[in-house]
Amino acid sequence: MTATLQETARPSAESVAALRASGVLGTVIPRVYGGRGGDAVQANRAVTDLARRDPSLGIVLFQHLAVSARITEWGTVAQKAAILPRLASGEWLAASAWSETGAGAAKKSLTTTAEQHTGGWALTGTKAFVTGAGIADLYLVLAQSEQSGDDDTVYGSSGQTLFLVPAATPGLSVGSHVDMDGMRRSATGSVRLNGCVLPSDNVLGGAGIAATIIRGVRESGATLGAVSLGIAEAAWDCVEAHLAKAGTSQATQYRLVDLAARLEAVRGCIERAGRRDSANPGTTVLYSKLFASAETEEICAQAQRLLGSAGYLQSHRVNALARDARAIALMGPTNELCRELVSAAWTA
Ligand SMILES: Cc1cc2nc3c(=O)[nH]c(=O)nc-3n(C[C@H](O)[C@H](O)[C@H](O)COP(=O)(O)OP(=O)(O)OC[C@H]3O[C@@H](n4cnc5c(N)ncnc54)[C@H](O)[C@@H]3O)c2cc1C
Repeated sequence: MTATLQETARPSAESVAALRASGVLGTVIPRVYGGRGGDAVQANRAVTDLARRDPSLGIVLFQHLAVSARITEWGTVAQKAAILPRLASGEWLAASAWSETGAGAAKKSLTTTAEQHTGGWALTGTKAFVTGAGIADLYLVLAQSEQSGDDDTVYGSSGQTLFLVPAATPGLSVGSHVDMDGMRRSATGSVRLNGCVLPSDNVLGGAGIAATIIRGVRESGATLGAVSLGIAEAAWDCVEAHLAKAGTSQATQYRLVDLAARLEAVRGCIERAGRRDSANPGTTVLYSKLFASAETEEICAQAQRLLGSAGYLQSHRVNALARDARAIALMGPTNELCRELVSAAWTA
């Protein structure tokens, strides 16, 4: 029987189980809640290590760590006590459901609404491109909870709220996964909310302040560039494995040095973003994503060429890595939006 996209677009059950059992899901969660109490350097390393082996699972982990960090920063005492131990132990996997068709990069003009309901909120709408859809146990959902005013925000808009929505909430259903060119086992797809009723306790950080929370994300030091670095390391692994068998010429050695230098530069910028010790850590995170994603696409292209005809085989891993690498520029904040966010600060 042919497997359906719903099955093939997910990570294998074994790899999800191994991720849940690994302890790595608790990387940024404080020790008091059962986590490892790690900082952004450790978060980026964990993401890179996993992405090197499995880029699709790398973005699943990235989203889980991002949601964990937002709850740690903005959660109430009760939310932290109820949710963080589950996220740390791997009992719960978390995902971000912010994007929509027609409200992609900048997260404006959301059609998912949150209306006040007795003692809480009712959420209705469809979120798109949710990584971990159908395997996550908790979604951090972005919804329009009041009319947006005059917006000067580049990313998100006024009147938006982030909600903690357990997957088991009545009215929540997972739609189809998207048939992407890369990141093919990341369970990226749509999540529908059909009048999901939630208590006010499930609001993260307060009603109407999502844009403030979103603005602070980059300050955390965690960067999607860490996924790119893992992919670049994996491309290097492909080259090394090939040349160990095929041997190298002097000309190849020189090309290898250039490739190694690029890889080293990507490592450096991810490390610097995670350390948060530059003059403007938020901008450094945006640079790290821009630089690491662009360099990794080039590293993959160089690796493909270094492998010669072996790298032209459709089944060769380096080609899947090149397709995975392209995804990072498209993920939020998209590379265009990173440029907009940096340059808007210059002209403000
Ligand atoms: C592999 C993958 C995984 C993803 N996982 C998630 C996830 O887990 N959760 C989630 O919520 N979303 C996720 N997304 C969605 C992602 O975060 C982006 O929101 C989405 O890809 C943007 O869609 P778009 O390119 O169609 O944007 P559009 O908004 O249609 O923009 C089109 C183009 O215009 C540019 N653009 C738009 N607005 C601006 C602006 N203000 N300034 C400068 N340039 C602009 C964009 O960068 C893009 O190049 C994922 C996407 C991918 C590819």
